[in-house]
Amino acid sequence: MENKYIMALDQGTTSSRCIVFDRRRSIMACAQKEFPQIYPQSGWVEHNPNDIYSTQIGVAAEALAMLGITADDIDSIGITNQRETTILWDRQTGLPVYNAIVWQCRRTADYVSKLKQNGLTEMIRQKTGLIPDPYFSATKIKWILDNVPGVRERAERGEILFGTVDCYLIYKLTGGKVHATDYTNASRTMLFNIFEKKWDDELLKLFGIPKCILPEVRMSSGDFGSTTLLGGEIKIRGVAGDQQAALFGQCCFEKGTGKNTYGTGCFLLTNTGREPVMSESGLVTTIACAIDDEITYALEGSVFVAGAAIQWLRDELKLIDKASDSEEVALSVPDTNGVTVLPAFTGLGAPYWNPYARGIITGLSRGAGRAHIVRATLESLAFQSFDVIEAMEKDMGCKISILKVDGGASVNNFLMQFQADILSAAVQRPDCIETTALGAAFLAGLSTGFWKSKDELYTLMSIGAQYLPQMSDSMRGKCIERWKAAVQMLLK
Ligand code: ADP
Repeated sequence: MENKYIMALDQGTTSSRCIVFDRRRSIMACAQKEFPQIYPQSGWVEHNPNDIYSTQIGVAAEALAMLGITADDIDSIGITNQRETTILWDRQTGLPVYNAIVWQCRRTADYVSKLKQNGLTEMIRQKTGLIPDPYFSATKIKWILDNVPGVRERAERGEILFGTVDCYLIYKLTGGKVHATDYTNASRTMLFNIFEKKWDDELLKLFGIPKCILPEVRMSSGDFGSTTLLGGEIKIRGVAGDQQAALFGQCCFEKGTGKNTYGTGCFLLTNTGREPVMSESGLVTTIACAIDDEITYALEGSVFVAGAAIQWLRDELKLIDKASDSEEVALSVPDTNGVTVLPAFTGLGAPYWNPYARGIITGLSRGAGRAHIVRATLESLAFQSFDVIEAMEKDMGCKISILKVDGGASVNNFLMQFQADILSAAVQRPDCIETTALGAAFLAGLSTGFWKSKDELYTLMSIGAQYLPQMSDSMRGKCIERWKAAVQMLLK
């Protein structure tokens, strides 16, 4: 009998989730479990790899039980994961030698500053497409090798393995048989040459990392072994980092298609096709997907404070009771009455790159009230995304005419309409906003033939809501002018 389902394992920063999809990509079961965040010092963030693994396998078993099915009913597994988070473990026992150092962790900031002072930024960018930052895995690996007693010696003897979270899960799920990652995850390590498509010896030397600890890099849609830990044998056939999986789950298969995820921050990725595009505006170049022996690239930009600004309205300013109230409050006034909120709580990201900037509210008059500030804060998510998209369009030399959206704040209709107005582009939200898990499922299902082609995947996706630009050009121009003026005021 044909297997009926695909299982997506979505290993995120705060929880592990498992979603089971059927052939029409309907969600049949969803199980989720949070795990502890470890903060050993200010600015440091760790996870216990055993927590990552145990919650992930736990939710997978739970999802099977919810549906009353067994491993035999699962065609294959797709894995998507929090990116850059770094784990080193013993090749024999599989036991981690240190906690996972999470992408958010800033412990290597001083070292990265020195790299930049030593003029290495351009060399690293020309190989990896990335701007040197503690965020990426390379300096986290170096930290473990330098600071955990004995680990460097053991690594040099070939006893230690490195992996991002996908790779660690694959290793555990296959009982240590497979030590592999996919191209999207490799592209976030700051050790992978995305142009030559291989681990870069010069970078390995720079960071003092022995090559023997690195995983094999495989296609995102392809063979990663199989697991017998859920009863029967299940193939693992899809792997991609979370943002790239969401891009795939949104069916952004063609050059020039992009998506924006509105969560705590915003993550914008645009498929740039078979050629990597280097940014002139501080965006990073990364691998979007590897499928059918082809690699596609993406430009990526992020907004640090997006949904977090809505939390600020709720928790600090107490202007709303819950995030979803922001929509009704914003719509209770016709405009912001000249108010602009720039929530640069942790500095300004692309394309301004000023880590010292802090937030401001401009244009306050005697008539400015609660609703104006709420509306202006929601608008700030759209304006910040606009700035990143404008930079992408400049880098790519073409206009993005459709923006696909997902993430918690994408349910806000006011925000999505305003985004369409400011971009002068269509904004589309799919009916299934679980795009990250869906992307991993799609990658697995295409590999096994569960789904026949990307064309078939298009037919599975329907638009939940579409927002077309309604604002006049002159009004749009005025809004953008007001925003840019506020940014200039902040940067002064
Ligand atoms: P993450 O994955 O980063 O935790 P989610 O995708 O779950 O984020 O989205 C949660 C974020 O979206 C929160 O910051 C919250 O303030 C914001 N949010 C949720 N619902 C709405 C809404 N209706 N309008 C505006 N913002 C919202």
